[in-house]
Amino acid sequence: MSGGVVTIDCGYLHPEFAAAYLITEGDRAAFIDNNTRFAVPRLLDALAGAGRKPEKVEYIIVTHVHLDHAGGTAELARLCPNAIVLAHPRAARHIIDPSRLVAGSRAVYGDETFARRYGDIEPVDATRVRSMDDGAEIALGARTLRFIHTAGHAKHHMCIYDAGSNAVFTGDAFGLAYPVLQTGNEPFVFPSTSPSDFDPAEARDSIERIAGTGASVAYPTHYGAVPHVARVRDMMLRSLDVMEVMLAEAIASGLDDDELERFCYRPMERFFRTELERRGIVFSQSMQEYLADDIALNAQGIAVVALRLRGVIL
Ligand SMILES: [Zn+2]
Repeated sequence: MSGGVVTIDCGYLHPEFAAAYLITEGDRAAFIDNNTRFAVPRLLDALAGAGRKPEKVEYIIVTHVHLDHAGGTAELARLCPNAIVLAHPRAARHIIDPSRLVAGSRAVYGDETFARRYGDIEPVDATRVRSMDDGAEIALGARTLRFIHTAGHAKHHMCIYDAGSNAVFTGDAFGLAYPVLQTGNEPFVFPSTSPSDFDPAEARDSIERIAGTGASVAYPTHYGAVPHVARVRDMMLRSLDVMEVMLAEAIASGLDDDELERFCYRPMERFFRTELERRGIVFSQSMQEYLADDIALNAQGIAVVALRLRGVIL
């Protein structure tokens, strides 16, 4: 625990791969992101470990509705009966009616993987869901939380600045920073371009807004506290330049379907290999396997945006 912030390992796919955060203030508490319903027991254990009761959870905050962030929202809301769910205005409707979200995610992962990773996703009663506008503030006891809309990774994404700990909770908008990738001679934080909203200009704008909070620590969902916010900003902006070149090449390629995805996969894998080797980390078979999902999702995301910008899909 640091500044009333607890990092909870959700046990999703690998250890230290996806986090949820617990903020405590007085006898009150709030969760930021909740991974999936299978992580909810871990969240409640952390709450008990911090000496708070589920009835005292005031807010269940989701950075965006991707299911490794918000998949446990309904289950957590059921078990924390007084909590209000706070979400981006474009995310709130999917929490109240998750049917489109579930259908989209099933299409990406297939029924079997979807069921194993996410289980059933229930709706949350609309009376318990509140949309947070850009710049809105809310009190958690003596603390103030400020909401910052941060598109680029997803249109329904927001970050949360906590003045109490001078920290910013960044979801997927300020990169992914798995601890196993931080063992080289400098940190490695990379952008997620996963389907289907990636927008390099919006992503840059969000990175500047996050760094502009003056926070001394960022808490990306993947994973844990990241200091050196200014360095991460620079790293993210450089990486986005590389990914924007990939996008331009994907648009110019004229390819589609599987061919386009393979075309995008190669430079994405090269990006990871180059960045890790530059830091003295071997891009071993096991590292390739560890990053396989992220590389494939990033490549898919670039391919989807290329098709949309070419007018092939809506
Ligand atoms: Zn995401």
